[in-house]
Amino acid sequence: MATLMNPKWNGQFSCFDLVAKTDGNTGGRSRTVIQVRDIEIGGNDFVVMAGPCAVESEDQLLRTAEAVAEAGACMLRGGAYKPRSSPYAFQGLGVEGLKLLRKARETTGLAIVTEVMSEEDVELIAEYADVMQVGTRSMENYALLEKLGTCGRPVLLKRGMTATLEELLRSAQVIAMAGNPQIILCERGIRTFETATRNTLDIAAVPVLKTVSHLPVIVDPSHAAGIRCLVPALARAAAVVGADGLLVEVHPHPEEALSDGNQSLTFGEFREMMDDLQPYLAIQQAARQFRPRLVAVGGTD
Ligand code: PEP
Ligand code: MN
Repeated sequence: MATLMNPKWNGQFSCFDLVAKTDGNTGGRSRTVIQVRDIEIGGNDFVVMAGPCAVESEDQLLRTAEAVAEAGACMLRGGAYKPRSSPYAFQGLGVEGLKLLRKARETTGLAIVTEVMSEEDVELIAEYADVMQVGTRSMENYALLEKLGTCGRPVLLKRGMTATLEELLRSAQVIAMAGNPQIILCERGIRTFETATRNTLDIAAVPVLKTVSHLPVIVDPSHAAGIRCLVPALARAAAVVGADGLLVEVHPHPEEALSDGNQSLTFGEFREMMDDLQPYLAIQQAARQFRPRLVAVGGTD
């Protein structure tokens, strides 16, 4: 779904030349497609990354990995290092968690996405992860971003909860300038005056980012919603506006989860969400094909 370049955006984003499209390269520069094992992010596939907020145990992780793979996810997302809002909350299993993620990849074939919080952990985590996640609280951690420039893995860069799109692209530019052009942008909701949801999903961020940047854009409906009943609706919205994929939290027993249980889907809910998404992905395709017919009917232009 093409959105026209707004002249204001061009001025606003063109300075981030490694990650932005500008008037000069809108037509010529093709989109970045990121290859992770046999998966293409930013190409024709709608890539779903799913799993528990935190890796808690072997049983929890392996069961979740099998369930999400069966439902159509192609990447397993789980945190071994957790940036928590409270210092008293579960902080993650660390290296033990990374080893469990590796085991889950061996048993299911799913690629692994996991968060890195400190530049000191980059090399270790890169040994286990296929994609390095930068969380909302770390979007402006420039020491981390620069280190990720040389990590040899694609980076999933989440939007800071109070960051503008310009600031998100600035952080992407930092990673790219440090040597790593393999960046996936992630809209995960921003902080607004609304309190009914955990964050406000900025759905317009998807077409804006896809217009001003050539990078893949995915949506995390779980952290945007904060409550599981809203996750499927936000996932559908993401599919319709042209996101390249989703990041969704899933847990075998959300009510017992050590983090983000309220927004985690059960296996059954995840399966249902995936089945229901199909027609919405087709809407996005149909819209792409419809455009030339409209031009023909009008007879001008
Ligand atoms: C997460 O992905 O579990 C997470 C902590 O997300 P965010 O950084 O968007 O809050
Ligand atoms: Mn979480």
